[in-house]
Amino acid sequence: MIISVASGKGGTGKTLVATSLALSLKERDNVQLLDCDVEEPNDHVFMKPTITRSEAVSIPVPSVDEEKCTHCGKCGEVCAYNAIAVTKQKVLIFPELCHGCGACSYLCPEKAISEAANEIGVIEIGYADGVDFGHGKLDIGQAMAPPIIRQVKEHASHEGTVIIDISPGTSCPVVEAIKGSDFCLLVTEPTPFGLNDLVLAVETVRQLDIPCGIVLNRAGVGDEKTEEYCREGNLPILLTIPLDTEIASFYSRGIPLVEGLPQWKSSFLELFDKIKEIVNERSSDTER
Ligand code: SF4
Ligand code: SF4
Repeated sequence: MIISVASGKGGTGKTLVATSLALSLKERDNVQLLDCDVEEPNDHVFMKPTITRSEAVSIPVPSVDEEKCTHCGKCGEVCAYNAIAVTKQKVLIFPELCHGCGACSYLCPEKAISEAANEIGVIEIGYADGVDFGHGKLDIGQAMAPPIIRQVKEHASHEGTVIIDISPGTSCPVVEAIKGSDFCLLVTEPTPFGLNDLVLAVETVRQLDIPCGIVLNRAGVGDEKTEEYCREGNLPILLTIPLDTEIASFYSRGIPLVEGLPQWKSSFLELFDKIKEIVNERSSDTER
């Protein structure tokens, strides 16, 4: 089963939930934690993994043979990402904007464009305290997170439970990382900002037709509007974590919640059981 842990808003406790769920489950099941928040991965701060393998991630970017180029401008016209500009004397390429789609080289009438690998980041695979671990890191200054996310997900185990930590928001990297999940946990806090971004995240997950449930973190910090929204939208709140200085203190020191306060383990196991129940119910409904 693949469970993605997402949030509309950053800083709601997604990492806390992903790491503690993985560490609670490891005695029950094979568990893999994949951090696909490739612009700012931080599960490793809590898990302290031993890395056994790293792989560079590249995308193909165009390289123009000026001897063959007639400066016809077709490549610039076809590029949907403004990664090529054609002047009378030169073709300018902006690799950081290139999505590696290959359209320019395919459509160049002079066959003047070849492709060269542009390294955009790295993925690292290893293990941490009984949990298989993997994450991706996008190089600073690069904008193309989805190829790194795809390469991290290629390492997803086909056995046991895979927990995917997703970047905050609802943009392309989020959709790329959530795609293919059996369930999406949305971590939120009961504040107006948290609710605003939760609504957007719920819409995204529903469009992907993935069942979801809520973890309400820092309960007590704001108002009751998030709970009302969940009730009205038939969104199950599967776990509530209170606003608590002891929890915040462990988090600030890079200590997973279930290590600092092991009594939380049973709550995370219950959370997993509820997710499993929802996923099983849904697959029996689909089979009917
Ligand atoms: S399409 Fe080919 S020939 Fe035309 S400007 Fe681009 S590289 Fe040059
Ligand atoms: S490969 Fe695609 S995105 Fe990159 S420059 Fe060519 S057309 Fe633009």
